[in-house]
Amino acid sequence: MAQPQLKQDYVVMTVSCGHCQQKQAVHVLSGTRSWSSAYQSVVCLRCGQHFEVMFPDLIIGGPFLPPGISSPR
Ligand SMILES: [Zn+2]
Repeated sequence: MAQPQLKQDYVVMTVSCGHCQQKQAVHVLSGTRSWSSAYQSVVCLRCGQHFEVMFPDLIIGGPFLPPGISSPR
């Protein structure tokens, strides 16, 4: 029997920092719904402060600054 592949499907969600409004992307696990909606802490790429976002799925990566998102002046 082949080993089952650990397949992590994720979706990219855009969030805004509550402190500096910097938009950034996080990866959330999709499809499992094992994680009840809860505030999850993200460390802002720009100002380094924690802010909280609420997703029904677990954040598995990020934040990232995608090319399409620019820093506010
Ligand atoms: Zn920030």
